[in-house]
Parts: sequence; structure tokens; C-alpha cells
Amino acid sequence: MPKPLEQLHESDIERKCCIGKVLTNSLKHLTQRFMDCDFEWLLPVVFSKSTDPLWPDPGASIEKRIELEIYGETVRTTSSMIVHKMVACSLAHPRLFILSPNIRIERRERARTGRHVYEFTQLDFEVRDATSKEIRRLVETVLSGLIGNLKRELREELTYLGRYHSLRVPKMPFREYPRRELEKKYGTGWERRLVSEIRDPVWVTDIPREFYDFEDFETGVWDNYDLFLPQYGEVLSGARREWEHDKIIRKMERDNGIKKENYALLLKLAKERRMKPSAGAGIGIERLVGWIAGVQHLGETQLFPKVPGVVYDL
Ligand code: ATP
Ligand code: ASP
Ligand code: MG
Repeated sequence: MPKPLEQLHESDIERKCCIGKVLTNSLKHLTQRFMDCDFEWLLPVVFSKSTDPLWPDPGASIEKRIELEIYGETVRTTSSMIVHKMVACSLAHPRLFILSPNIRIERRERARTGRHVYEFTQLDFEVRDATSKEIRRLVETVLSGLIGNLKRELREELTYLGRYHSLRVPKMPFREYPRRELEKKYGTGWERRLVSEIRDPVWVTDIPREFYDFEDFETGVWDNYDLFLPQYGEVLSGARREWEHDKIIRKMERDNGIKKENYALLLKLAKERRMKPSAGAGIGIERLVGWIAGVQHLGETQLFPKVPGVVYDL
């Protein structure tokens, strides 16, 4: 398990600093590429009435939701900025991104996955009127550019981390697998099998998820996508979004467990037809950097690790 900073030996700190260089360089490259593509950079929010319900995503497994009262109102800490992204993209910025802290009190047994921490950062972005394909191509260009850049600029650090030779610049376009085909081939454990077999990042499409991802009610196909990294797992989820009021309501009711009153503004804007079609995604920064650096546990990418079930001083 990742230890807190003050308990690390000198060599562990040296490794941490190399990972820190990978993080800094990755953030520099990613933010620059989004700005070069005319995205506005928004600052994150911490408290809101609406946040991602993380439900009924079967991948979501949290111990509790954080709700507290301020000024006589109940607010929640951000689990993702999906609602803010959709509203900001509809009403103000047609292209936007945020480096957004997400709090998800993951079940404590998830400490063992090595892929979950209870505070992490998403590079979350959204584009008005975009198609899923456009978003996937954008992500491919940005990620391939990032890996090429890191191999050029951080050769010494990647060599120290034992990743210089094994980290390959992925060829574009990345392969795409419809989730139903993977289920046919591998059964319900498709995710683990896929991740152990691939050698480059791949897309999986059509995954049943939260109400905000677009679903074709006639075919039952979801217009969404996850990006999987070899030996590592999911690093990104994204989709084209729902924007029509009646459809969002139908999905919220079907998902039973979703409290419509927690999404009052989104529903009001959709009713007034002020929500616009968009598509986007969120990249988990610790997972991306963890894969690049080849860490065993995501907490190694954090100077102050937030391992499920473990609360250190800092
Ligand atoms: P998983 O099924 O792997 O737990 P998820 O599908 O629940 O993840 P999303 O809600 O899709 O996660 O979140 C978007 C992205 O945020 C993920 O693709 C991942 O990169 C990152 N992420 C999600 N949960 C965590 C976590 N607990 N720790 C670190 N990164 C996370
Ligand atoms: N960031 C994700 C998206 O854009 C939402 C999430 O965090 O689950 O779809
Ligand atoms: Mg996901």
C-alpha cells in the first residue's frame, strides 16, 4: 500500500519525484493541446446541489455520498462535473475543459484494486454539437501526442521508472470493440480479459451507464465509449449526451434511485429547451499517469495518497 510522504525512504522519494515530473509534463501537454484546440479552461467547483449520481453504473461502488448543509441548503461534494459541463457547454462555452477534483468514497476493499483512490482528478471536457467519433479522434490525437512528447522530454525519468522501452506511442485510430461483442466472447468478465490481452489503448462502445449518456431507445444502443489501457484498465469514460427533457425524465425514473429534485436545474433548462446536444469525456489523471509511470497502486501517483479505507494526516 502507498505510504504517506513522511514515511518514505530516499529512493522512494526519488521515484515519487520522477512520477511528479511525468504528472507535470502530462498536465502541461494536455492543457496546452486543449487550449490550442480553442477550449476554454474552467475552474472546478466543490459544493453543488447536483453532482454525478454514479448510478446505475455497475462500475460505481461507493461507501457513502457526502452531503452537508450550508446556508440552510443541502449540497454535495463533486463526484464529477458532468452536470456543470453540460450546462456550461449549453449556455456559455461550446468547448470547455476542467481539471476537476472528484470525491468518491470508494468501498474500502477497493484499496486492493490499485486502481481506485477516494480523491482524484479528471480532465473533463465537453464540446457542443460534437459526435462521439469526433471526441474519440480528439482523444487519440492528444494521447498519442502526449506519449511521443514524454518519450522525447522525459527519457531519463521514464528509464528510471522502467517504462521508456515498454511505453509505445499508440497508432491511430485506436481499435474499437462494441461491448456486446466482448460479452459474447468473454462473458461478464470481459473487462479483465480485454485489459490483459490488448497491447495498445482500445475503445469499448455501447455501455449502459447514467441517464446523461445518449441512448437510442429503439435499438437500445448507447452512444458512449470507455478507453481501456493495456494491463491497466479504464482511463476514460465519455459519451454524446441526452438533452431532451422527457427522455431524461424517463431515464431517471427507470434508474430508480435517482432523486429528480437533485437535478432540478438541469431538468428546468431541458424543459425550456436551453440544453444543447454535446459530447465529451473525462480522463482520470492519476490512472493515465499511473499507467505511463507503471505504478502498482494509483496512490503512488499522489504525494498525499487517498487510498480507500485509509486516512492519513495529509
Ligand atoms: P471504475 O469502473 O474503473 O471504478 P468508473 O467507470 O466508475 O470507474 P467514471 O465514473 O467513468 O469511473 O469516471 C471517469 C474516469 O475517472 C474513469 O474513467 C477513471 O479514469 C477515473 N476514476 C473513476 N473512479 C476513480 C477512482 N476511484 N480513482 C481514480 N480514478 C478514478
Ligand atoms: N467524466 C465522465 C463523462 O464525461 C462522467 C463521469 O465522471 O462518470 O462522461
Ligand atoms: Mg466509467
